[in-house]
Amino acid sequence: MEMNIDRPDILLIVLDQLAWKALSCYGGEGKTPNIDGLVENGVAMDACYCPFPLCQPSRAAFWTGMESHRNRVWSNGRSWPIERIDESFPTLGETFRNAGYETMHFGKMHDGGALRGFTCSEEKETAIPDWNPAFPFNMDTYADVYTVDRAKEYFSSCSFDSPHLTVLDLINPHNICGWIGKNKGVHENAEGTGELPELPANFDFDDIANRPLPVQYLCCSHVRQSQTVGWTRDNFRAYLAAYYYYLSVADRHIGEVLDVLRDRGKLDDTLIVFFSDHGDNMTSRGSVTKQVTLYEEVTRVPLVFSGKGVVPRKEPVKGLCSLLDIFPTLCSIAGIDAPAGLDGIDISAAIDKGVLPPRRYVTSEWFTEWGYTISPGRMLRTDRYKYICYLEMNGEELYDLELDPGETRNLAGESEYADVLAECRKLLREHVFESSDPFFTLQVKVDPRWRCHDKGYANHRGCAAPEYKGE
Ligand code: ZN
Repeated sequence: MEMNIDRPDILLIVLDQLAWKALSCYGGEGKTPNIDGLVENGVAMDACYCPFPLCQPSRAAFWTGMESHRNRVWSNGRSWPIERIDESFPTLGETFRNAGYETMHFGKMHDGGALRGFTCSEEKETAIPDWNPAFPFNMDTYADVYTVDRAKEYFSSCSFDSPHLTVLDLINPHNICGWIGKNKGVHENAEGTGELPELPANFDFDDIANRPLPVQYLCCSHVRQSQTVGWTRDNFRAYLAAYYYYLSVADRHIGEVLDVLRDRGKLDDTLIVFFSDHGDNMTSRGSVTKQVTLYEEVTRVPLVFSGKGVVPRKEPVKGLCSLLDIFPTLCSIAGIDAPAGLDGIDISAAIDKGVLPPRRYVTSEWFTEWGYTISPGRMLRTDRYKYICYLEMNGEELYDLELDPGETRNLAGESEYADVLAECRKLLREHVFESSDPFFTLQVKVDPRWRCHDKGYANHRGCAAPEYKGE
């Protein structure tokens, strides 16, 4: 019992593919009463970045607290299979289990072995009928239904004798990927789509000739982007409607689990941390889901601390942070010595004092999704600017996020930004050197066929690299 005083119960709620800007606390249009309730009773971080905007690498990074180039989980698999992470690497689950926590995980794993130390519920599916034929469910939602049932069972019956670290790892709004497959190419919006959200200001994209090759030919490496060829503006608006719909499904699932904790009288005793593994393009620059790019929509994610020990704040806490900070921060809150060598920092001051420790920058990385094209890239975000560098033809991007939050104009070639560019390059080189990042020695792998059509995603024809089966 006394142990619980020092060591709070902790519930991590993870969504898959939720961009920060979809949530109302960040100005978005998501209908998420349960997530909004967590925010009202907590603090949201304004500018949190994922270490790698892809499921498995991001997850392996935040569960180990190590950047992707260090833990070597660089892809989702297939043509670039990932071995399980080195047994010597620390993991959040093992650190908390060794400190006396009961460590349970429910839902999506896709972790490269980084969930070591958690007792993981099986990944299974419970099929349910569609609630709205315009937004069909697939395996992603079915998996969440199964996960939520297991988590509810657990919280209904578990003893709270020892402190708990529990993960509710939901896949939605990722069901949006399957929605594209059902709506690929030229099509009419389905009946029942309802009122369509407006497209964002950065939907129209006239700067494509000024972007690095991996961005110009995003459609050639990304199956989902290639499936949007032929879409109208209203089709893209329906994409947003579907995205918000699958987010609302996740929100309802979160509410079901919180209700069980409330019924057990444990909700107020629990520190809840809400975040997602990476974002979604949400039609910005005419793009969907995530792949290759390192723009705000895909790298910037919600991070909310709520409940036990949190002093609620109305506005998101300004400053930079990373999902890599979760591991050392939870150690700090629970009074556990963090393993040596973690890449994130303790941001627990944001929870009670509403301030983030100053830092010069945060980073994110890209390597490959499935290994059929390999486009190593690095992002460095400072207080005001974002710098992105791809190895392929030394493609660089620079954005002034104060003047151009939608990243609509690449400034890397503009002479009046030469000093800013030089400073960003220097910071990235320093970071690469200090963190023993092999970035500048990595090899690009792109067949010329994936760099050949007229620029513009709408000009893409045929399959994308992961689907290519030969002539
Ligand atoms: Zn293409």
